[in-house]
Amino acid sequence: MEDTVLRRTWAESDLDALAHNYRQARRRIGPGVRYLGVVKADAYGHGAVQVARKLESLGADYLAVSSLDEARELRHGGIRMPILILGHTPPEMVRELIRYNITQTVSALAKAEAYSEAAVACRGTLRVHIKVDTGMSRLGFLVRDGHFEGGVEAIARSCALPGLNAEGIFTHFAASDDDDPADADYTREQFDLFMRVLEALSALGRTFPLRHCANSGALARYPEMYLDMVRPGIALYGVGDDAPALDLRPVMTLRSCVSTIKVFDPGTDISYGRTYHTAEKTRVGVLPIGYADGLFRGLSNRISVVTDSGPAPILGRICMDMTMVDLSALPEVHVGDEVELFGRRQRVDLLAGVLGTIPYELTCAVSKRVPRLYLEQGRVAERSLRLL
Ligand SMILES: *Cc1c(COP(=O)(O)O)cnc(C)c1O
Repeated sequence: MEDTVLRRTWAESDLDALAHNYRQARRRIGPGVRYLGVVKADAYGHGAVQVARKLESLGADYLAVSSLDEARELRHGGIRMPILILGHTPPEMVRELIRYNITQTVSALAKAEAYSEAAVACRGTLRVHIKVDTGMSRLGFLVRDGHFEGGVEAIARSCALPGLNAEGIFTHFAASDDDDPADADYTREQFDLFMRVLEALSALGRTFPLRHCANSGALARYPEMYLDMVRPGIALYGVGDDAPALDLRPVMTLRSCVSTIKVFDPGTDISYGRTYHTAEKTRVGVLPIGYADGLFRGLSNRISVVTDSGPAPILGRICMDMTMVDLSALPEVHVGDEVELFGRRQRVDLLAGVLGTIPYELTCAVSKRVPRLYLEQGRVAERSLRLL
């Protein structure tokens, strides 16, 4: 990779921070509970293959992705660990699932039947995890209220189908990351319902080696819900509301640099739409990063970027490829100096808060034209330029 590319805008994934976050979770869950790392959506933008490799070397037990394409990317990247697909895979692809040794979520009897038929047709066995809808109202066997008996029966029938090996069963919480008492009650109700489903299945002779439900919110709040395996995503990446309490470190740092500096007279309009008007002589730095890199335009005029000498407020609208910042109070910042958009010094959570969204959306949004650097022991261990 040309270093000139790296002198524009890049994202660093700190694999030492990732290892730290993994070990923090490990310490919390104890030796009897397994760890599934959620690496869907390119590991929330952090680089799925590199994150998965690190987790594999650290001794994690399982990975989860959202689709067959994501699972295949990991297998082609040399990952041998068990991988669970959380989302939909068309039954025509069962042969691929078996060939790549990938575990598929089953969320309804009709899907189980289609997967079973396809597995039998290719004389293979498909490993599956049953998804139970206890209140997320997304994927999963319906079991709430009047659906309980029918749901349990449909799960039992699914597990008994030929060609399927029901290794696991799971549910997903809708509000486990919220401390509001109503949300805590809702989470406990979801968990109790999941437990009752497991009991009813056990009474029918159906048990599962891997029962799991704890996402990051539950990892932080509900040790009684760890069961056989936890399933965190955002906590692995060291961001989100619970990160400080769990002593987690942000894995991603988004960086750019100062490409140009200009001094404007008072009364100058800066950028599209003339939303910023200089009141005095203003020393402005132009950064080669914009919303096409994943810097949300909604942050225009609302945050600062971090320089080695202090914060530099964004002036005017963030453009597709460029952003202007105020360097008037930072005379020691020069062309070529690095700036941090978010990361260790300025948490991505702060930007998410300004935007009224969650940090997940910002790390996922770092676009494919942004090269990734993977840091290990403080050094650049790997680079990936995604536009080639
Ligand atoms: C994304 C996802 C997770 C991880 O959620 P976090 O809030 O990032 O911990 C866990 N389970 C399922 C089913 C998911 O889709």
